[in-house]
Amino acid sequence: MAQTLFSNCRIFDGSKKRTYAGEVLLQGNRIKKVWNGKGAKIRASNAKVIDCGGATIMPGLTDAHAHLSLMGATTLTHPGDTPVEEMIYGTMHNAKTVLDYGYTSVYSGFSSKPRVDVVIRNEIEAGRIPGPRLLASSPIMAVTGDFTDARQMHMYHDSVTIFVDGPIEMRRRCREMIREGVDHIKLTISGDEFGTPHARAEMLTTFEDEVREACAVAHSRGKEVVAHARAAEAIKIGLKHGVRVFYHCDFADEEALDMLEAKKKEIFVVPTPSSTYITATESEEWGFTPDVVEYMNLPRKMAISKKTIKEIHRRGIKTLPGGDWGFAWTPHGQNSRDYELFRDFYGIPVADTLRAGTMYGGQLMGMGDELGQIKAGYLADILMIDGDPIKDVSILQDIDKILMVMKNGEMHRAPDARKLAQRRRSVAAE
Ligand SMILES: [Zn+2]
Repeated sequence: MAQTLFSNCRIFDGSKKRTYAGEVLLQGNRIKKVWNGKGAKIRASNAKVIDCGGATIMPGLTDAHAHLSLMGATTLTHPGDTPVEEMIYGTMHNAKTVLDYGYTSVYSGFSSKPRVDVVIRNEIEAGRIPGPRLLASSPIMAVTGDFTDARQMHMYHDSVTIFVDGPIEMRRRCREMIREGVDHIKLTISGDEFGTPHARAEMLTTFEDEVREACAVAHSRGKEVVAHARAAEAIKIGLKHGVRVFYHCDFADEEALDMLEAKKKEIFVVPTPSSTYITATESEEWGFTPDVVEYMNLPRKMAISKKTIKEIHRRGIKTLPGGDWGFAWTPHGQNSRDYELFRDFYGIPVADTLRAGTMYGGQLMGMGDELGQIKAGYLADILMIDGDPIKDVSILQDIDKILMVMKNGEMHRAPDARKLAQRRRSVAAE
């Protein structure tokens, strides 16, 4: 099996909160050996050697809350108005974009139409289109009048949701989605400010018997449930019935925090600061004027979310980046802004979020023993970065600084030999 040696590199391995000098040897699609220390030590006579010129080798990133089927949406009805043919192509392009930026794994936060994630996942897995490892979601399963319900009497508007009311209907629609091939069911258990004022973030929208049935169906088929849960009660009900991934969690009260902490080995929290912070502060041209932002309660939500997410992280609950990218004001490709937002908005150190976006990302993908770390035996999902992302995480947003993207041992973006030579010369001159 072909061997490749990355020499003269710094390593961020996904588990430690620092980088160190070393070497990484690959065999086929897996990491065979990692050496920690200065100077060439791994002897592999047949290996193709890539001298990294001091660049950083790190695991591929995971986006824990992605919507690859959002194509610059300005409203939740935008995807509803997009025909499925256009959506498939748009989603395919978005899958390539996030992989270009180093996202080798994506956990979908919803598919805008029932089979879009599924088809894109299958095409990627078959090697016919470039894209990350993708866990495919259902559309949002939500009750009538929840925040994504854009329908009006006499005027039907589709959005990103399958509307279900009552436990029996929930059973049927979840079984249907599993039949169509999704990896997980997406629920909204609480409301949100994006949409109808009758379903605010603190309100419970989907009832316990409906959540219970969605979870029972998913678990009976070996699938899992991910939930939009801003309200305290939504988190508690979700935990009770075995939801594995919780989005947002802004209004978690003391009891909800204790319950999350008690299950911290099994669950993941993905707060998505972009959906509040960027919407509230940078998106006036998309209609989020100060009046609208105030009406949507975003300043209050930001203040509460800052406090809650900081506490969730302090309690050692896995807090992952992934931020609802794909709206017009949060385009795909900017995903790594999450690392800065986690630092600036929640006060979470960059090194912690980088571990979450790599090592915990592998766990979220259900592959924690072989994905998300630079470690012997792990799959070769590897990035080469021009600089140290712990010292300056903004470089992950710069495509020119992402020198290489490898997924499953295959080059998606190979390093440019001239760029590496330049790097070696400039390091030597220092
Ligand atoms: Zn979302």
